[in-house]
Amino acid sequence: MEPVVQIKDVQEVAKDVVVVPNRHVQLVPNIGVIGGRHAVLVVDTGMGPRNAETVLAFAADYAQGRKLYLTTTHFHPEHAMGAQSFAGEATYLVNQAQADDLAQKGPGYIEMFKGLGEGVARQLEGVEFVQPDIVYDEAYDLDLGGRVVRLQATGRAHSRGDQVVKVTDADVLFTGDLVETGQFAIFPWFPPYDTDVSGVRWLAVMQRLAADAPQVVVPGHGDVGGAQLLADVHDYLELLRHETWARRDSAMSEQTMVEEIEALMIERHPEWEGRDWIGKGVRCLCSERLTTTDRHL
Ligand SMILES: [Zn+2]
Repeated sequence: MEPVVQIKDVQEVAKDVVVVPNRHVQLVPNIGVIGGRHAVLVVDTGMGPRNAETVLAFAADYAQGRKLYLTTTHFHPEHAMGAQSFAGEATYLVNQAQADDLAQKGPGYIEMFKGLGEGVARQLEGVEFVQPDIVYDEAYDLDLGGRVVRLQATGRAHSRGDQVVKVTDADVLFTGDLVETGQFAIFPWFPPYDTDVSGVRWLAVMQRLAADAPQVVVPGHGDVGGAQLLADVHDYLELLRHETWARRDSAMSEQTMVEEIEALMIERHPEWEGRDWIGKGVRCLCSERLTTTDRHL
């Protein structure tokens, strides 16, 4: 199915916080719109300028004259590569690591994603990169009027520049692709082009996010849920690391390792999608084991 954002089944997850759900369409993200008294923040754009125009029209209508802000959870095409449509209409804020990620890997990702199919290529037609208006390092408190939203860089995990968005007063957390519902964690492990994903750091990030136990968790893709979503990803990553490192130490071939662990994880989560990501996760964690060992020698 072509990755087209549709303004359908919009969910109010808390007072003046709505989600345009991805309706289980691949490469369509969950999009958030968070309102305050005088401003509204949009979280993620959809893939390419046409999807972003749909999101912008919805957000402008929702805002009813309130000032518009845009942020993106990380640089991946369906999350950030529509920011150009918001230029002049919204103030765009991101963390520095994400801005760097986009500048360095954005063009390569467009080429890679265009290879995924005609529908994807069509949506990526005409993507241009825009400079964010505000760039921060670790955290940024955005005052929407009677509501302060915290943008927080997590450090390298699913990508080099992930950030989460916390609506503290309503206890809502937008995670981007750090969390997916009903899916194996997405490891964009594409050596030699991109090896920035880190299973070890991702696990540490999930530990920190889970400690807050937010009431509502909006994942990058899949159904909105509660703190259990964070626990599910945490437990999966922990098990993936354990199973990978146990085999790594027994000097098993990487291919055998992938096959064994895939079988194990599928048995554990037969209903989860994205089985291809298991092997990439194993290979990523294998490389991290090497690094850790080397460092201790
Ligand atoms: Zn992603």
